[in-house]
Amino acid sequence: MITIDGSEGEGGGQVLRNACALSLVTGEPFTIEKIRAGRDQPGLMRQHLTATEAACTIGGADCEGLQLGSNRIVFKPGSVTPGDYRFAVGTAGSTALVLQTVLVPLALADKPSHLVIEGGTHASMAPPFDFIAKCFLPIFERMGPRISARIKRHGFFPRGGGRIEIDIDPSPLRRIECIERGELRERSGMVSHASLGDGKIAQRIRKAALKALPDWEEAMIAIRDLPAGQGPGVALTLDASFEHVTEVVSGFGKLGLSAERIGNTAGKRMAGYEASGAFAGPYLQDQLLLPMALAGGGAFTSVKVSQHTRTAADIIAKFTGRSARYEDAGSKGTLVRL
Ligand code: AMP
Repeated sequence: MITIDGSEGEGGGQVLRNACALSLVTGEPFTIEKIRAGRDQPGLMRQHLTATEAACTIGGADCEGLQLGSNRIVFKPGSVTPGDYRFAVGTAGSTALVLQTVLVPLALADKPSHLVIEGGTHASMAPPFDFIAKCFLPIFERMGPRISARIKRHGFFPRGGGRIEIDIDPSPLRRIECIERGELRERSGMVSHASLGDGKIAQRIRKAALKALPDWEEAMIAIRDLPAGQGPGVALTLDASFEHVTEVVSGFGKLGLSAERIGNTAGKRMAGYEASGAFAGPYLQDQLLLPMALAGGGAFTSVKVSQHTRTAADIIAKFTGRSARYEDAGSKGTLVRL
């Protein structure tokens, strides 16, 4: 039985999600203690519960301690059964993070799966749907599986109510190297808003983002008025498509956070990524490690290595014995090799 101290490293939900996925694929049971001890509201929140329940459902796993607020669980995996599944977070907790818990095990199964996941699609501290669809999945598909992802409804914080649908056509995973991003092909962005009045907020967000991105033009960032029932909420996504990777930077509306701040922060982050020569941005890096580990290794260059990445690497080492190495890659940042 592998024992994990959930307070170590990044100390967030990612430790738990990666452990569930690794356990389902390797067949190794695990115990995790001090779950999310590093967070303001420690223990299992609704979205972690849904992600772990989803892992149990697809993987015939048995899990002790699975309740809201729990800070210890014991997870014993069974065998992964592909099929049609629906998972509902019930809050604005992230649909993308539930997907990431079950995606790799189902992508390694022997038959296709169809998933419907309900909850948040555009809220902070998690990948927005656009990041999953345009940044993460195209790289994951290069490892073998075919995935189609659709958003049916947006779900903003605090209301949730979003819905995504995913088709997974499985395949063994092959190792890939993600070193060069290639030439810049296209820049685009979107401010999606619902039930926030006349669109002035969306315009202010766009203006602030453009101020931080002198090489971008106003026409590159569209404004989309979503049906009022999907709101209230607003999200900005900025996409820079290079030959081999598309980076998606995001910002989300929150009470007390000005439109200028949302646009400026996202704009600056995109400017930082464009100025670097790295393949993976600050979020793709930790998310690439799990599929790479189960593909038997891989490599990528990345902007500054995040604590999430180091923590994901530690969990992977516990289950697979495979350690990450970090090397200076000059103008491409750091080379992470698994
Ligand atoms: P945790 O904080 O442990 O729950 O993990 C959060 C996960 O969400 C990590 O895998 C992050 O890379 C990912 N994440 C957080 N914010 C974003 C974002 N804006 N875009 C893409 N991924 C994100």
